[in-house]
Amino acid sequence: MRKKIVAGNWKMNKTLQEGVALATELKEILAAEKPNCEVIIGTPFIHLATLSELLNDSVIAVSAENCANKESGAYTGEVSAAMVKSTGAEYVILGHSERREYYHETPEILKEKVDLALANGLKVIFCIGESLAEREANKQEAVCKAELEGSVFHLTPEQWKNIVIAYEPIWAIGTGKTATAEQAEEIHAYIRKCVADVYGAQAADDTTILYGGSCKASNAPELFGKPDIDGGLIGGASLKAPDFKGIIDAWK
Ligand code: PEP
Repeated sequence: MRKKIVAGNWKMNKTLQEGVALATELKEILAAEKPNCEVIIGTPFIHLATLSELLNDSVIAVSAENCANKESGAYTGEVSAAMVKSTGAEYVILGHSERREYYHETPEILKEKVDLALANGLKVIFCIGESLAEREANKQEAVCKAELEGSVFHLTPEQWKNIVIAYEPIWAIGTGKTATAEQAEEIHAYIRKCVADVYGAQAADDTTILYGGSCKASNAPELFGKPDIDGGLIGGASLKAPDFKGIIDAWK
């Protein structure tokens, strides 16, 4: 059975102290009521070591939101996959549309990041998804397939086991517009078929595919009720513990 996951993506929010407060609140809530899914919080680099220690004895795993496409050396301001791993973080989010758009991360750069993350023992939450113009031109399948082919379909079947896919239609991220459960299910099923074509039916069945884009407690049950939607990658609603818990509860 593939894993059900609810993962937060804090983006560039929360000072260290605010992040510790939020993680502590979440840890206490989930200790009192065990979740029915894996819970991950994706945080800025500055939180990783502190939160990995704080959440060590909890059900919550920690993820970075990025890592460098170089191993080490003279790359001022960059943080390597090995450094992320050394904080105790288990995951890294790669390919988020904000990084593709604002930081010009190409499929080739993302491929290097994915390879380094896996080589350093991190699991990867790899984001794909189409823009509004691409959706209106009915190109969502072609876009998702190309993004997979460009950065992750070169992996070996063994490496693939450490990949989680997050389908995030760009037009739904932070906009309040959610894909309907039917729209999301349709493309999730397509993505799973693409995985099956490369890695086989069993591997595809074992692959966790998350939905992201204005997911909240009110729409999560319908989205997560679809057969190919295995949870969510959550931006805005991961910044307050009760909101995030409301989405985790969709798995009850
Ligand atoms: C995201 O950026 O990964 C995301 C899904 O954001 P939001 O939930 O705010 O739409």
